[in-house]
Amino acid sequence: MDSKSIRSTFLEFFESKKHKIVPSAPIVVQNDPTLMFTNAGMNQFKDFFLGNKVAENKRVADTQKCLRVSGKHNDLEEVGIDTYHHTMFEMLGNWSFGDYFKEEAIDWAWELLTDKFKLPKERFYATIFEGDSSESLDQDSEAKKFWMKHLSEDRVLNGSKKDNFWEMGDTGPCGPCSELHIDLRPQSEVDKVPGKDLVNQDHPQVVEIWNLVFIQYNRLANGSLENLPEKHVDTGMGFERLAMAIQGKQSNYDTDVFQPLIQWVAKKAGVKYGSDEKTDIAIRVISDHIRAIAFTIADGQLPSNNKAGYVIRRILRRAVRYGYTFLGFKEPFLHELLEILVNQFDGVFPELTGQKDFIAKVIKEEELSFLRTLDNGLKKLDTITSGDSKVIEGSTAFELYDTYGFPLDLTALIARENDMEVDEAGFQKEMEVQKNRSKSAGKQTTGDWSVVNEGDDVTFVGYTETQSTTKALRYREVKQKNKTQYQIVLETTPFYAESGGQVGDTGYMQFGEEKIEVVDTKKENDLIVHFTKKLPASLEGEVKAVVNESKRRLTENNHSATHLLHAALRQVLGDHVQQKGSLVNDKMLRFDFSHFAKMTDEEIAEVEQIVNRKIRENIQLDEKKNIPISEAQEMGAMALFGEKYGDFVRVITFDPEYSVELCGGTHVPRTGNIGLFKIISEGSSAAGVRRIEAVTSVEAEKYYQKKLQLISELEEMLKNPKDLKKTVENLVKENLANQKKIDEMNQQQAGQIKNTLKNNAKEINGKKLITYKGDFPSADSMKQVAFDLKREVSNLVLLIAANINDKPMLTVMLADDLVKNGMNANEIIRKMAAAIKGGGGGQPFYATAGGKDITGLDEALKIGKELVEAS
Ligand code: ATP
Ligand code: MG
Repeated sequence: MDSKSIRSTFLEFFESKKHKIVPSAPIVVQNDPTLMFTNAGMNQFKDFFLGNKVAENKRVADTQKCLRVSGKHNDLEEVGIDTYHHTMFEMLGNWSFGDYFKEEAIDWAWELLTDKFKLPKERFYATIFEGDSSESLDQDSEAKKFWMKHLSEDRVLNGSKKDNFWEMGDTGPCGPCSELHIDLRPQSEVDKVPGKDLVNQDHPQVVEIWNLVFIQYNRLANGSLENLPEKHVDTGMGFERLAMAIQGKQSNYDTDVFQPLIQWVAKKAGVKYGSDEKTDIAIRVISDHIRAIAFTIADGQLPSNNKAGYVIRRILRRAVRYGYTFLGFKEPFLHELLEILVNQFDGVFPELTGQKDFIAKVIKEEELSFLRTLDNGLKKLDTITSGDSKVIEGSTAFELYDTYGFPLDLTALIARENDMEVDEAGFQKEMEVQKNRSKSAGKQTTGDWSVVNEGDDVTFVGYTETQSTTKALRYREVKQKNKTQYQIVLETTPFYAESGGQVGDTGYMQFGEEKIEVVDTKKENDLIVHFTKKLPASLEGEVKAVVNESKRRLTENNHSATHLLHAALRQVLGDHVQQKGSLVNDKMLRFDFSHFAKMTDEEIAEVEQIVNRKIRENIQLDEKKNIPISEAQEMGAMALFGEKYGDFVRVITFDPEYSVELCGGTHVPRTGNIGLFKIISEGSSAAGVRRIEAVTSVEAEKYYQKKLQLISELEEMLKNPKDLKKTVENLVKENLANQKKIDEMNQQQAGQIKNTLKNNAKEINGKKLITYKGDFPSADSMKQVAFDLKREVSNLVLLIAANINDKPMLTVMLADDLVKNGMNANEIIRKMAAAIKGGGGGQPFYATAGGKDITGLDEALKIGKELVEAS
């Protein structure tokens, strides 16, 4: 069975069990402070488990793009070395939100694997939670009982809390889990060692394929467990491992999921996959990493220097580095794999197909820049290995790792080739220091929620209101460094929570007589959380929530203008323009979009004109809430990959022929409110991505006023000429002409100095010594004189101690023959420079120095002369 059929069989099976099939959430996580990337199928359903939201469908199944390269789940170091851990993989999952529980979950897993996929029953083992006395938790005897419907008792194994008790984080929903392991070894080996002994022993052919989690507890901040009112099922099966089992392979990489990539890389490198462990690993690393890189870029995360972007950059560099070291790839190659990848996921994850060229371009640029860094790193290593030391310092190895992306093993390898060693302990120490630094920077402690009023459903009324009277549902304390903040959840709120680029609202809440300032509003998953610096004396009773209206209105101007800008860019530049990021606040808007060239002045002007025309047309906002995604697509809404949409979406339209976008933000009722639009900068923000910053309404007015003010001031300065431009042009021209005259005069003066000096040459030990102390018009003319004299006077030793516009400056020039005999201008100038409190250098025949003490010129010259006389 090919992998596409395996995927669809899984989904169809659970559809037949009344599950709703939903799309994968983006691999890049938004609105969750605890997670950068989706690392399990359950992430997008967190709100259901936490009880923040009620699931519309109680049974759901999907295939979820996952990435395990940071935080709690980090498999990066294994990837490529072993044959069954990936960075990016698909997790097939089925869920019950307060519906079925252990028995159905176990029965269906068994039915699917053995009946539908026909995997051999006698190769399975199930593990169950053995219990934990310190937590007063019993063995999961229920799960055991249900497994024993299908498996003999000796195939149901006890597992520890580490492997068989699943927790979402330090707090929150948790419960026992039960894993299915499969033994894929040849029969001859099974006869020798029973598979039972190899479960959870990191054997590449006895692997876990499916984890069934039974969520029945909630862990509180004090560490204790409470029973959940509703029990849930959360399962995750590794798609690539399943393919390995069904296709009878010994490695995930031998399945049709990876083979096209593997074969391409092997061919490009001119090696055979399977012939050498070293090149095999490199080929696997590359075939794996390209998937992680491409999917994260498709979902909106570009490689960058911090956070999620940095994680992606490191993965990309790891792939390039393996190619460079083990396969001899010295030119960009990763981006060429995109073609194959797009083919493979066509019809499954359309976000790749739609953005193929863009993703390839971003990857290629990253490859190019890293290959340059790699070169520089190698050069740095070269200078170290060519020295006398036998040890590469820990700090150097760390710098190579941190700045140049050289992992320790690569540095060690190069060291060994040069008969050197790496101070590994020193390296680890530096690593520890860095880890602690980032840990303490981000350390945050979050208290438990305290419930004020029962209720989970939060209503946002901010699309129409900026005030509402409501009640508080819950609050908690959050500490970061020395800062304590409070988070308050209201039943009804007009406060817009930061998302889709639009900043969160500020304002205040009034509890009785007491006003509490709201400093920010953010989303945590789908919960709207208000941030305050203090708590009111009492949270009970009525609360009046009031948004800072003027700030909100200015922000809305910028948000609607962003939509108008987006549409105008597509008109002027083409359909390839896609949003890659945006920021909207009350002062300005910033819009990042895919486009490969700098915009011309004409293009910028045209975009501005279109947007301002749309503003003057005073188009009415058409807002459609809660419409099915299919309808939105028919309306021509520009769907943005990387956003998490429910089945129902909100569509914002300003003229159906002009701008239709999926958007959760707040907008002006008519475009006329925006008043005026002005682009203030256009530049590059990343490879293949341009960034526009613009202002509207009040800020745009201020911008023009400032520019006009500047012009008035210039006019005044120039005594109100009739034609300002002409006058300035003339000034520039005059200035140029004057500068030319000055240069000529300087040259004449230098020529005179030169002639005088030439006639003053003194013979000393066969050398012609010329010294000069006095004014020089410029450093350039001094250099000119020095070179002229070198050409005209044989056996020259020239020492100049000059005053150039009140700054001391020295020059030493030596004839080539003298240099050949061992004289060195560098040495002379260094000693002379001390007298003027300065430093400098150059080449053996010509050196210069500047300094701070002009009174030392005589002394400097004296030192120089003594050196020459002594030589
Ligand atoms: P393992 O012990 O093999 O690392 P896990 O306990 O981390 O697995 P879970 O968190 O239970 O795995 O994830 C559910 C399933 O996802 C696993 O049973 C496995 O099939 C698959 N899986 C987990 N991590 C990876 C990975 N890095 N690459 C591919 N598949 C994975
Ligand atoms: Mg794992």
